[in-house]
Amino acid sequence: DTALYAAKRAGRGRFEYYSDVMDTKAREAELRRAVADDELVVFFQPAVDLATGELRGVEALVRWNHPVRGLLGPGEFIDLAEETGAVVPLGAWVLRAACREVAGWRADLPDADPLRLAVNLSPKQVAQADLVRTVESVLAETGFPPARLTLEITESVILQPDPLTIGRLQDLRDFGIQLAVDDFGTGYSALSYLRRLPVTVLKIDRSFVTGIADDAEARSVCEAVVHLGEAFKMHVVAEGIETADQAAALIDMGCSIGQGFFFHRPLPPAEAGSLIRRQYLSRPDPSSRSG
Ligand code: C2E
Ligand code: MG
Ligand code: MG
Ligand code: MG
Repeated sequence: DTALYAAKRAGRGRFEYYSDVMDTKAREAELRRAVADDELVVFFQPAVDLATGELRGVEALVRWNHPVRGLLGPGEFIDLAEETGAVVPLGAWVLRAACREVAGWRADLPDADPLRLAVNLSPKQVAQADLVRTVESVLAETGFPPARLTLEITESVILQPDPLTIGRLQDLRDFGIQLAVDDFGTGYSALSYLRRLPVTVLKIDRSFVTGIADDAEARSVCEAVVHLGEAFKMHVVAEGIETADQAAALIDMGCSIGQGFFFHRPLPPAEAGSLIRRQYLSRPDPSSRSG
């Protein structure tokens, strides 16, 4: 934004406004082109059984393999995608790529049938009238089983649950897909809304997991979410586990599934695939077969 700063100093108020708009337009166009040109990559972060370390599933996390800037995390482009609507094609791309990749691992490993895939959905995607059709066609196209897919929505979606949104989420549930509330506890999901929504998983936000060992308030929030999960018959997943103490505290509370750097970082597809093959090895990894 050096140009913007220069424009400000020069006192060219109007020009500054237009250059900012142009900048957003140009960045949006670049992002849309990146989606169309397959410049995005899906990384996979395993979710594990906290007690045994066994893989239970993977979460798809998008990256942008930018030709000049290198590998970019979603923090660098997902807000722009959401503001401009580019997140709709981007999200469909991620869903398709993730389902295709995981369906490939599953095809090689019959024992991996219970392994789940979680994909993040942005509020704009949830607001699309054709969301359900898009999801169904990706599942049909990739052969990925709906019962093994979890879609993660944010608290902001459940805070404004208009009937159309609820209907769409219910359609996804009826199709056999699980629905998770991501970063749970950070917003202000009214409990009454939560109970009325077809949600099946609560993901405790990393900020609470981080404080679980030495911050009484963070610990209480974790306990409260675990109890809420029991009361509403929802699964509870802890995110952002970085230490053995945090994992132990969560197990004590009755939370059995988690994700975090302590277990695994988000992995590029090939590494995630070999990790999964190692756990479910019932046939050798085809890529490591010689000849
Ligand atoms: P999220 O869905 O809550 O994903 C968890 C984020 O926390 C990931 O960051 C992951 O790398 C990071 N993380 C996992 N374990 C740890 C840990 O132990 N310590 C720390 N410090 N961080 C950990 P990432 O990949 O940068 O993604 C950030 C956010 O971007 C995601 O948060 C999600 O909201 C969004 N996002 C990622 N991929 C997509 C996508 O395909 N579509 C949409 N709409 N949003 C996405
Ligand atoms: Mg997530
Ligand atoms: Mg999360
Ligand atoms: Mg998070």
